[in-house]
Amino acid sequence: MSPDVHGKKRALITGGAGQDGWYLIELLLSRGYDVAAHSRHQVEAAVHGGRVSWHTGDLTDGIFLSDLLAVSAPDEIFNLAAVSQPALSWDIPIETAQLNALVPQRICEFIRRNIPACRLFQASSSEIFGDATSELQDEQTRANPKSPYGVSKAYAHHIIGAYRQQYGLHLSCGIMFNHESPRRPLNFVSQKIAHAAAAASLGLTETRELDERGRPILSGGKLYLGDINVRRDFGFAGDFVEAMYLIVQNETASDFVVGTGQSHSIAEFCEAAFGVVGLDWTKYVAIDQSLVRKVDNHYTRADSTKLQSQLGWYPRVTFPALVTMMVQERMRILKIALQPDQHAH
Ligand code: NAP
Repeated sequence: MSPDVHGKKRALITGGAGQDGWYLIELLLSRGYDVAAHSRHQVEAAVHGGRVSWHTGDLTDGIFLSDLLAVSAPDEIFNLAAVSQPALSWDIPIETAQLNALVPQRICEFIRRNIPACRLFQASSSEIFGDATSELQDEQTRANPKSPYGVSKAYAHHIIGAYRQQYGLHLSCGIMFNHESPRRPLNFVSQKIAHAAAAASLGLTETRELDERGRPILSGGKLYLGDINVRRDFGFAGDFVEAMYLIVQNETASDFVVGTGQSHSIAEFCEAAFGVVGLDWTKYVAIDQSLVRKVDNHYTRADSTKLQSQLGWYPRVTFPALVTMMVQERMRILKIALQPDQHAH
C-alpha cells in the first residue's frame, strides 16, 4: 500500500459531511490524498474546493456499499457514518444497529475478500464503556454499553478486533471520547450551550433554533438543560482527526483511546461559554427534569497513554479555547441571521 503505486493515496470517508468528516477531509487533502466521501445527501460540489469525489446513497444497502467500495478502490477507509447520538438511538434502534454495527462488519468482509491491503479506521466510542466505574478509561476498560448506540458501537468494535486477529488485516478502532467544534450539530448539548450564550450576549431572549422539546434553545431568556453534573472528556474534533490519521499510518493495527484526559461537567461548560461573553451562567441556565436522561454515562475521562506514547498524539486545543471558538462562531452565525430582521425594522 505504497503511495508510489498510483502516485497518491486514496481515502474513502463515510459520514464525510458530518463534523469529523469535514476536518478529516481537510487534513487528508492537505496531505495530498485523493479523497472520496459518502453522504446520504447531495453535497455541493464546491465544498472543500471541489477536491472531493462525493458518493450519495444508503450505506445499509449492501449493493450500494459494495459498489461504493469497489468504485472508490481505497487504500484507507475512515468509517465515520453513524447514528451518532445515544439519545436518538433509542428512537431508531434498528437503524442504529444496521448502520453502526453491521455496516462496519460488511466493510471488513469486503476488505477481506477484495482489498486485503486496505486499512480501516473505525470510529469507536467511549459510550461502549457505559457508566464506567473507573476514574480513567483505557483500552482495557470493560465494555458495558447502556444504549442502542453504545451496544452497536461495541459490536463494531469487537467484530473489527476479531477480523484483525483472524485475518491479520490492518483494521483499527479509535475509542473516541466527546469531541466538539463549531461544526457540532445544534442537537448536541455543547453546541446548544454555545448557541444560547451567543444569543444571550446579543440580547436575544428567544432563539429561532429549537431544542429537543421543540422549544427555542433560549426560551424566555433561559437555556433548559437536564443533568448538569454529568462530566465529559471534551476535546476538539480537529485534534481527533489527527489521531485517526496517525492510527491508520501506524505499522501495526490496534485500538486506541482518544481523549484529552480532563473531564468537565456540563455546568462547567456553561460557566465557560457564558464567561466568554462576560455573562453569569447561573442567571441563564435552568433545569428541566424532562431532559434528564434515565440512562446516561455520568463520568467519562480518557487515559490516552497508549496513543501518546506509541504515536505521539497530544490534543492541542484546550477546553477554554474550544469553548471560546464555539461561542464566537455561534455569534458570527447569529449576527448574519439577524441582519435581514434589522433591515426590516
Ligand atoms: P456526525 O456529525 O453526526 O456525522 C456522522 C454522519 O453519519 C452524519 O453526518 C451523517 O451523514 C451520517 N449518518 C447519520 N445517520 C445516518 C444514517 N441513518 N444513515 C447513513 N448515514 C448516517 O458525527 P461526528 O461527530 O462527525 O462523529 C463521527 C463518528 O465518530 C461517528 O461514528 C460517531 O459515532 C463517532 N464518535 C463521535 C464522537 C463525538 O463526540 N463527536 C465521540 C465518539 C465517537 P449524512 O447526513 O451526510 O449522510
